[in-house]
Amino acid sequence: MSPTPATFSSPTAPSSYAWEATDEQVAARYGIPLAEVARFDLNTSPSPPELAVRLLAGGDYGRQLSEYPPSDYRRLVEAAASRYGVGADEVLVGAGADEIIDLIAKAFLPPGGAAVIPTPSYAMYLVDTEQRGATVRSVPRLGAADGFAMDVAAVRAAGRGANIVWLCSPNNPTGLPEPDGAIEALLHGLLVDATESGVEPPAVVLDEAYAEFVGQSLVDLRVGYPRFIVIRTASKAYALAGLRVGFALARPEIIARMAPYRPPGSVSVPSVAIVTEALLDDAVLAENLERVVRERARLASALGSSGWSVGPSVTNFLLVDFGTPAHAGVVAEHLLRRGLVPRTFGRGHPLAHCLRITVRDIDENDRLIEAAGSFGEARS
Ligand code: PMP
Repeated sequence: MSPTPATFSSPTAPSSYAWEATDEQVAARYGIPLAEVARFDLNTSPSPPELAVRLLAGGDYGRQLSEYPPSDYRRLVEAAASRYGVGADEVLVGAGADEIIDLIAKAFLPPGGAAVIPTPSYAMYLVDTEQRGATVRSVPRLGAADGFAMDVAAVRAAGRGANIVWLCSPNNPTGLPEPDGAIEALLHGLLVDATESGVEPPAVVLDEAYAEFVGQSLVDLRVGYPRFIVIRTASKAYALAGLRVGFALARPEIIARMAPYRPPGSVSVPSVAIVTEALLDDAVLAENLERVVRERARLASALGSSGWSVGPSVTNFLLVDFGTPAHAGVVAEHLLRRGLVPRTFGRGHPLAHCLRITVRDIDENDRLIEAAGSFGEARS
């Protein structure tokens, strides 16, 4: 097997998550009305399900609002278990997938430990690993021509003696899933290596924040790889990011190991009630998926017609390659001046020459298409 091309970063100064400017900041900086700011940077869905709006407006929470949510989130846990096809003792609730990532790091990553990240991926794996005082083993992904797939052999090699391997499929920000069989092959390799050296295999975390968009989950792999943890969220396909609800799905003993790190009531009473109903309602998901698939194709094709190099995506966002960081920066500024906020990648990031664009609703997408079309004119 080839030696690990991993790089090791110092945990002494934890990285922090870098957001784009807020609506208010964009409006003030570019002198545009607040209502005209459109978020293409957050991979959220533009409008919440009608069911959620109705429950929030008319929900009779009464006395419940002065009380804490049920300490075991029982109805929410049961709804998640039935939606994701696992047992109720295989679900842990958190305030968004972000809190779940934090809980996993606390439960499985000791100070001085190590975590593997196929890079680029979602920024919080790095942030939480560094916050634990653990070492990041960053393994570069293959290139665009290979769908930004992880390098299975290199991730396996880096996984030797590591505490956690952070996987994300479909991956943010590259927009594609790992190839069929890749994650299974990695788990098999990690088990073989751990058995050979007589150590526990690393916990493997598979962040499936965007799994609904491909209609496929690998949660069943927990049967053969006991330290396998899947992350799900209400933020993306369910269009409920503002409610802050996410889940860990894993074998009961893994959930039990994480549970002591869970704050007693980080998910609010309305969030518990609304996400429970949304998970039980097939229409909520179906409507949003239909919109995303339709608008993704239209947006990708229209941006392509303006000369933008749009990568393939199975998710609710597109990765657009502008060749150089400088060109990506100029395009970002052109969009921001129109109140359209793209996701940029900072200097030194492997995708600094790209922008990530969320698929929004028809009106907002039309504004972006118009801005892409006017880019050449604006420059000439
Ligand atoms: N994981 C991935 C891959 C994400 O893209 C995001 C949101 N950008 C999250 C987790 C966080 O999701 P949540 O809103 O559930 O905290």
